[in-house]
Amino acid sequence: MFGPVRRTNPQMPFALEPGQEAGAGTKTAENPNGQNITVMFDKASNMLNGQNVDAVGSLTAHEGVHVADGSDWVSSGFSNNANPSNLQTEHDAYTVQANILRGMGYSSATFSFKRRDYKFSLPLQPGSGGKIDSMIKREYPRWNLDVFQKNTAGGGH
Ligand SMILES: [Zn+2]
Repeated sequence: MFGPVRRTNPQMPFALEPGQEAGAGTKTAENPNGQNITVMFDKASNMLNGQNVDAVGSLTAHEGVHVADGSDWVSSGFSNNANPSNLQTEHDAYTVQANILRGMGYSSATFSFKRRDYKFSLPLQPGSGGKIDSMIKREYPRWNLDVFQKNTAGGGH
């Protein structure tokens, strides 16, 4: 295994929040580092039963932001400067997710955590970014830490 492994957070907001791993893939012009990043969705959450297409679509966009951040970090040669904090990557991911939901025609987005729900009017407003950051700081105990750690130990799945 070679590449980013996302820190796990015991209080992930979604049952679907994935582990992300990068394995050695085929190097191509489009993928010069041979990255192979996998996002896993929790089957037990029953989100993939075909009844939650919009939620799955928006969540896929959310996870795609983390994949892009991980890919950028690998491409940088694992530079500390390219390793975002949980706050930064989650801020960007929730912003993209909300914008995708807006594009689907929703007038609000609610992000649910174990104890709390956070509702945002769509489209996002200038003050929404601060509200997103407050949500992340409250719900992600490791919000200020780097999001990726390098794993070269092998294994994984
Ligand atoms: Zn996320």
